[in-house]
Amino acid sequence: MKEFDIIDTFFRKGGHKRKDVQLGIGDDSAIVSIPVGQFLAVTTDTLVSDVHFLANTAPADVAHKALAANLSDLAAMGAEPAWISLSLSMPEADLDWLNEFSNALCQLTEYYSIQLIGGDTVQGPLAVTITAQGFIPEKNAITRAGAKPGDWIFVTGTLGDAGVGLDIAKKQIAIPDPDNAYFLGRHNRPTPRVLAGTLLRRKANACIDLSDGLISDVKHIIEASDCGATIQVDKLPLSSAMKNNVSADSAFKYALSAGDDYELLFTVSEEHRGNLQVALANANVQVTCIGQMNGNSNNLTLKFEKEEYPFDASGHEHF
Ligand code: ADP
Ligand code: MG
Repeated sequence: MKEFDIIDTFFRKGGHKRKDVQLGIGDDSAIVSIPVGQFLAVTTDTLVSDVHFLANTAPADVAHKALAANLSDLAAMGAEPAWISLSLSMPEADLDWLNEFSNALCQLTEYYSIQLIGGDTVQGPLAVTITAQGFIPEKNAITRAGAKPGDWIFVTGTLGDAGVGLDIAKKQIAIPDPDNAYFLGRHNRPTPRVLAGTLLRRKANACIDLSDGLISDVKHIIEASDCGATIQVDKLPLSSAMKNNVSADSAFKYALSAGDDYELLFTVSEEHRGNLQVALANANVQVTCIGQMNGNSNNLTLKFEKEEYPFDASGHEHF
């Protein structure tokens, strides 16, 4: 199958269509309109086979993951997703793979009301690059740089589940069903916190999505905001599957350092804490306060109950 036939068969017809797309797939570029008063947030993520996903990952799971990584980045800025582009590299035209992948992607565009507006299709090692664009009201973007000493640190959802799922997929641990399926689902089909992201606008001071792992992502906020942070490790939210199947010690290790949860971590002042918690609760978004920012530049302290573990980059392994 030729490039144009692949595009026509798998990517051109299906999927959600938006009114703000003047020209979609088929010409030299797409043409879209941006609403007055909105800024555009733009992000790209590439998943390479054997690097970012196991080579035997189901094509539908690759679609979920590639899209989630991008929508999660938009959510972390407070942006609402609108359009995506897809650059696909494949060793040869694998029609079954393309069929499953494109069906999943089309369904996801319906779910998130976004449109696939273009891309590129090339021969090469299996890799999926998605670029996502979304709207954010002018000057409402939430960056990593806005955290202030005294801000409370919150996370959405539960932490570490995707890391357990990865170890199951790699056959390094075995967990009985149904929790097995839960962990694999968290690893293969993460949920980007799109709604939560938009609710943080004008209330949260800083936000980041948890893709590399809590410690490393908190450090990004600390550096960008020139602050310090204390994380109360015993407060980290763990799923019941995690509590029931994984020892407390390794559960906290997963929660602190495993990646790919795609939850949001945000900081909020005492003043806005209450109304933000109400807004999130009304939208059914679970959040947990896990610590507080302070003025100690570049310092991350992990606390377990009353005990302190001053943190240095090389030192968290033996926690
Ligand atoms: P050009 O050579 O002008 O860059 P292409 O031949 O690569 O255009 O692509 C033709 C059209 O199909 C373009 O509108 C492009 O955006 C779109 N397209 C190509 N690959 C994909 C893909 N994997 N998913 C969605 N759209 C695609
Ligand atoms: Mg091209």
